Amino acid sequence: MTEWPNQGDRQRDGTVGLRSAQEIELMREAGRIVCEVLDVLEQACAPGVSTAELDKLAYDETVKRKAKPAFKGYLGFPCSLCASVNDEVVHGIPSKKRVLKDGDLMKLDFGVSFKGWFGDSARTVPVGRVSDGAMNVLGVTREALARGIAAARANARIGDIGHAVQSWVEQQGCSVVRDLTGHGIGRRLHEDPRVPNYGEAGTGMLLKAGMTIAIEPMVNAGSHKVVELDDEWTIVTMDHQLSAHFEHTILITEGAPEILTRVA
Ligand code: MG
Ligand code: MG
Repeated sequence: MTEWPNQGDRQRDGTVGLRSAQEIELMREAGRIVCEVLDVLEQACAPGVSTAELDKLAYDETVKRKAKPAFKGYLGFPCSLCASVNDEVVHGIPSKKRVLKDGDLMKLDFGVSFKGWFGDSARTVPVGRVSDGAMNVLGVTREALARGIAAARANARIGDIGHAVQSWVEQQGCSVVRDLTGHGIGRRLHEDPRVPNYGEAGTGMLLKAGMTIAIEPMVNAGSHKVVELDDEWTIVTMDHQLSAHFEHTILITEGAPEILTRVA
């Protein structure tokens, strides 16, 4: 299983770095670009469009904004966009052969670096008219992200986020993927801490104002179990039921977190 490594922006005492006002401003810029590009990609998701066309669009829209696609070349990933369809959970590799069709559930996962700072976000997009089951897992996952974000504030713990996500998702009869997690983000795409989508409230690392993390529930309609395909990237549900994914990069504050990958 390819799990993104957490490369660690840790201080010598093992704590996670806090961002200065200037650094936060740059992360806002990076996040805004991620959001703008995802808006373009979401509009472009339609029957007959290949995932390779979406990838090219992601690249072009990023360069136009003087940013760099964060995934291209990262650990050898060949493209700018992770494009995962239906039972593909994450890390789908765009391809000319993968043409979207009516009823597909598309997951767009995208990040950039801008002046050395990263933003990372994901959305699930219905292509044409999708099944009620697809809309259900999409809605459950979007709400799971909202609940995870609401739990992420100074003096809460990492486990509070996972607990908020998992308890909601399981109440709805879906499951959270265990093998992949959210992550710290800043000077690198993946930093400490890991941010699992499951866990016990009141456990794990203490959150402090100034930390920046990516929360990204991956939710399956069936079993939480996933497997990696032979391409050594694409993660799919083991039971081939649908999966959905939403992600935001956020700034922890004393109050409600600031969503950085959103246009203000
Ligand atoms: Mg992502
Ligand atoms: Mg991420």
